[in-house]
Amino acid sequence: MTNMHKATEFRLEARPRIPEVLERLDELANDLFYSWDPGVRGLFARIDLTLWQKVEHNPKLFLRRVAQERINETIESRAFLAEYRRVLSSYDAYLAAEPGPEVTEKLNPETSLVAYFCAEFGFHESFPIYSGGLGILAGDHCKAASDLGLPFVAIGLLYCQGYFIQSIGAQGQQIARYQSHSSDELPIRLAEKDGKVLRVSVPFPGRNIVARVWEARVGHIRLYLLDSDTDENNAEDRNLTHRLYGGDESTRIFQEMLLGIGGARVLQALDLHPTAWHINEGHAAFQILERCRRVMDEGLSFEGALEAVAGSTLFTTHTPVAAGHDVFPRELVEHALGAWLEESGLDFDKVFAMGIKPGQDAFNMTSLGLRGSRFHNGVSRIHGSVAAKMEGDIWPQIPPDENPLGYITNGVHVPTFLAPEWSSLFDIQAPNWKSELRNPEFWEFIEQIPDYHYWSVHKALKEQMSDFVVRRLKRQHSRNGTGRSVTERMARQLTTTDKDPLVIGFARRFATYKRATLIFSDLERLEKILTDPDRPVVLIFAGKAHPKDSPGQQLIKVVHDLSMQPSLMGHLILLEDYDQAMARRLLSGVDVWLNTPEYPKEASGTSGEKAALNGALNLSVLDGWWGEGYNGENGWAITPRNIDLDPEFRNVEEARDLLDLLEYEVVPLYYARASQGYSAGWVKRSKASMKTITPRFNSERMVMDYVSNYYQPATRQGRQLMADNGKLAAELAEWKARVREAWPEVTLNVQGCVESQCAYDETVELRVEATLNGLTAADVRVECLVTPECTGTHNGLAPNCFLLEKEDDEDGKTVFATQLRPSYPGLQTLRLRMYPYHEALTHPLEMGAMLWV
Ligand SMILES: *Cc1c(COP(=O)(O)O)cnc(C)c1O
Repeated sequence: MTNMHKATEFRLEARPRIPEVLERLDELANDLFYSWDPGVRGLFARIDLTLWQKVEHNPKLFLRRVAQERINETIESRAFLAEYRRVLSSYDAYLAAEPGPEVTEKLNPETSLVAYFCAEFGFHESFPIYSGGLGILAGDHCKAASDLGLPFVAIGLLYCQGYFIQSIGAQGQQIARYQSHSSDELPIRLAEKDGKVLRVSVPFPGRNIVARVWEARVGHIRLYLLDSDTDENNAEDRNLTHRLYGGDESTRIFQEMLLGIGGARVLQALDLHPTAWHINEGHAAFQILERCRRVMDEGLSFEGALEAVAGSTLFTTHTPVAAGHDVFPRELVEHALGAWLEESGLDFDKVFAMGIKPGQDAFNMTSLGLRGSRFHNGVSRIHGSVAAKMEGDIWPQIPPDENPLGYITNGVHVPTFLAPEWSSLFDIQAPNWKSELRNPEFWEFIEQIPDYHYWSVHKALKEQMSDFVVRRLKRQHSRNGTGRSVTERMARQLTTTDKDPLVIGFARRFATYKRATLIFSDLERLEKILTDPDRPVVLIFAGKAHPKDSPGQQLIKVVHDLSMQPSLMGHLILLEDYDQAMARRLLSGVDVWLNTPEYPKEASGTSGEKAALNGALNLSVLDGWWGEGYNGENGWAITPRNIDLDPEFRNVEEARDLLDLLEYEVVPLYYARASQGYSAGWVKRSKASMKTITPRFNSERMVMDYVSNYYQPATRQGRQLMADNGKLAAELAEWKARVREAWPEVTLNVQGCVESQCAYDETVELRVEATLNGLTAADVRVECLVTPECTGTHNGLAPNCFLLEKEDDEDGKTVFATQLRPSYPGLQTLRLRMYPYHEALTHPLEMGAMLWV
């Protein structure tokens, strides 16, 4: 039956006229500089605070919706105009700043360019094309690249519906909703080349898919985003880029083809020629294939092209968790890449071999990324070594601790995540702090801040956070129909100000390995800790679970149900729709940031770093970044139990540690308040945390590590390999083929016997003989590793390495020898080994081949 009263509604948006004096607001709204500059955001807030909050801090939407009267009033305000001019001049100064010598000595801006590929980017809540840590990290990486003035360009996809918006219903069920964003409410514009709108196409099965390209400004750098919603495409293809991590595996592979193959084509179309290519997680790894194809046009074989491409490429892996690695069935890959392969003249089997992993008859994007790059890293020390083991099959004969997979620990963008209240205080205390972000000694200035002043900043931020939490809590529960009195009780701990309870935050994706519910393992004990009337504690939880992750969603329900229990009410709060805005609020307002991942699955984690910048204390399992950050005085640590033990047992043990720490250390320290109203011991610990963590775990340090360890060497290596139309790349590929062919029959044995005793100042002769099966002595390296036995003084020393030189060839055997002088007095272990070696290798062990005696 039709509803007679229901009229169709037409929406009309009458946009205000922005007068000439305020014209540059549009420019500010179109540069993600606003995402880290509180001055810019402050301008919009000053014009109309209510609207600014209503449009969720979206400058472009704000400028469309702001009332004409507000604009007219604003231009009458001299104070506003003065602030506006100040912000503009600081923006102009930022854009005019030249990169420092530290950068230009490593990457010449005239001749080098880094291209950074990622499936998601999280700059700000107004630009929702991210889901969590990976995206925020990519955003922070771009921001730091801009701050440093790096020659840098980023490539991603534009998802007009982004990731989902989360509600939590009255039964604790997660409800996912998608909202479309039109391009004119996002800080992007269509990219142009020579006055024409840029489009690229990628061969898909039976058709070409045509993508538009959007440009986002991030200060000095540009991010290009592909979007398949164009007239040329069929309805299904137009939907391809609607959602981040949506659809099925076929959606996923086509998205990734658009990102990798299309992304490389965008750079080509823009006439940009990167010298170092950074693939941030496997989603973008198809770019390797497209680049190989292009190098092959210059006359190289696929193998030769691969050497050239890989030599200029860095691949970063971000998680040991299986769900984070895309694995596609053979048939799907063959189908999806078919048309592209045909156009490229490439052989499917060769391409498929790039993505195989032992034990999987499928195509693994991480394996492709690793085989197509010569630089590889994980994102913390612990994760680096876990990833080296996990991906060890790429270098089958190399011990994982020596294979080429290294690490750079993640850091966070300080201007984005440091609350403006702290940065104002730093401006007074240490005016040039922004240029000292990588100088740990400089950060000793934190100690000079008087305790009461330090605490008052934290207290003010904590109050703002509490207001925010209470507001969101009421909104959520009034929608769910929760009674007023219940909602009041839930908010009570945060609204009665006389107690100033200890507030602990836990907000992140609800993935099972993050063990959100570990703290509830012993409910009775937890309840006692939280609800002591003299020393109350409030736990705040937030986070999304992927719509297909039902165990993750189950965790949300468990936390929700507990939060509604009368005994915990008010001491446990669950907020919906965690995003960057909420993250900034919570991280800068809580006293303690809790993280209890299942070791060693937290590759890095970065939210704890953000909390530390703002003076919160970390209480975490020693995993990810905290494994390096914790020094005994700057927070609290839970030592993970041996991973071979039963998981249930580990949970119980680690949960007990957690509750012990809370009961005996955290709560007593927080409540050791003297008459001044705060705990001096707490402030001491918080200062120790802020000053040790800020200068080490920030994105500027991280990006400079990438420059020194990877971007500069990749630029150099790529150039060498590609010089003279790829002469060296071709030579290297041929050499590798020869080695691969010969290696299975190569042998290595000791000649004679190795002395078992000698005087400390004597030398020992070492002789080995090798059958090289057609290789020559110049194709290999033979070495002896000398490791001291554990004698107390030499425990844990790295082995010394001695090269053996070729002595002669006899009867088809090549003899290598050296006179070894013992490295250490006392007992030591000698191990002899041989591996293929060529000067043009990026890493000496990259072939993955090694023989031991
Ligand atoms: C920093 C951040 C993350 C990542 O932090 P984890 O510690 O890895 O969970 C996720 N989401 C948002 C909104 C963030 O700001």
